[in-house]
Amino acid sequence: MLNKIPRLTNDTIDSFKNMDFVDIANIIIAKFIGKIISQEKLQQIVNNALNFEIAIENIVNNDYICYLDRGPTCSFKDFGARTLARIMEHFLEVDDKNITILTATSGDTGGAVAQAFYKMYRIKVVVLFPKNEVSNLQRKQMTTLGENITAIGIKGKFDDCQKLVKSAFGDKELNHINLSSANSINFGRLIPQTLYYFWGYSRIVDKKNEKVIFSVPSGNFGNLTGGLIAKKMGLPIKRFISAVNENNEFPKFLKTGVYTKVDPSINCISNAMNVGHPSNLARIFDLYGGKIDEKGVIHKIPNMEELRNEVVSYSISDGATKDAIVNFYNKYKKIIEPHGAVGWAALQLYRDSYPKNNDIKSLTFETANPSKFPEEIIKLIDIVPKMPYSLKVIQDKSEFPNPKEIINYTDFKEYLLEDFQD
Ligand SMILES: *Cc1c(COP(=O)(O)O)cnc(C)c1O
Repeated sequence: MLNKIPRLTNDTIDSFKNMDFVDIANIIIAKFIGKIISQEKLQQIVNNALNFEIAIENIVNNDYICYLDRGPTCSFKDFGARTLARIMEHFLEVDDKNITILTATSGDTGGAVAQAFYKMYRIKVVVLFPKNEVSNLQRKQMTTLGENITAIGIKGKFDDCQKLVKSAFGDKELNHINLSSANSINFGRLIPQTLYYFWGYSRIVDKKNEKVIFSVPSGNFGNLTGGLIAKKMGLPIKRFISAVNENNEFPKFLKTGVYTKVDPSINCISNAMNVGHPSNLARIFDLYGGKIDEKGVIHKIPNMEELRNEVVSYSISDGATKDAIVNFYNKYKKIIEPHGAVGWAALQLYRDSYPKNNDIKSLTFETANPSKFPEEIIKLIDIVPKMPYSLKVIQDKSEFPNPKEIINYTDFKEYLLEDFQD
């Protein structure tokens, strides 16, 4: 799929500066699926899916922040999940089919997917989450919905949830349930994640073909993959900064050409980025002519020179992340949350290392809302971050109980079979 990425002309990209987000989004998504969906339908999907603000602020000199935290679950995952949900729903209508989405989450994905598919009755969603490792708010984003959404808390880690999901996908006796995934390597989730690169670019450049630097807080590398696709489509990007927390497998790989996953992954305060072996790495290798398998074994080394030219990566410790939150507030009187802070801190390292590029504009993504991390923010800068309405209403809702205690795969399979008997 990735070997036929469509190109946009420089003129088309230049014309984006006079368009609003939805029009840009329509043009880009149509490049991928325009042959199999009407323009009118696509417009309706994009209008419904991406109906929230994407603010961009100039922070200092040539450095901007793009806020991807204004969707219903206040994480950038709303872009991919909401667009994917509506595209899937459309094609299921056309084919008169029903499916079940199984997904495992470490926190943010589950909420975004659950909210995105809520009340789409051709699609059942079962989300597995590690019950002792998600925040109250993250859990409530999944457990307060009901209807076609079932969230099941598992005693264990994210990896245990993922194993259950993988076993179900490989189980022939569940074929009749039409299982599908909505995980971050899904192409339908990656395409919407190119949109805000084009949008952000179009809002900050002055000249045609001007190059921009993007700093991308990275965990499973879906966001970065979206950016790399945008670049291959023709967006003039000087460099990507892949900003990771203490899970530093990717910057180490870029430096040495040797890949070693971080196992078990390290718990950092930017918890949506605690990934020791990103599943989108396979996509990135693919984009640069390499091949890596699920276990992290490299079968073909990608073009390292090209990759290093396009992407730099920095690992930011929790200490440095906290410093970034404090400094950002002291300097600019604005609150940045841990994931965005990793991106901002990495940008500072880049600026220090490449002063000759100081006249090139940069855009750092803020990927979550600060109010999702109140304890940390209060501890660091003594301010209670304001909670957006979409999170406030969830806080007060009551939760649906676990439908079944699931200890092992047999329990999970039993649950799926019982639930789909009719
Ligand atoms: C998922 C997530 C990330 C990491 O994005 P990837 O696409 O997995 O690299 C960063 N920040 C937040 C808030 C997230 O939810």
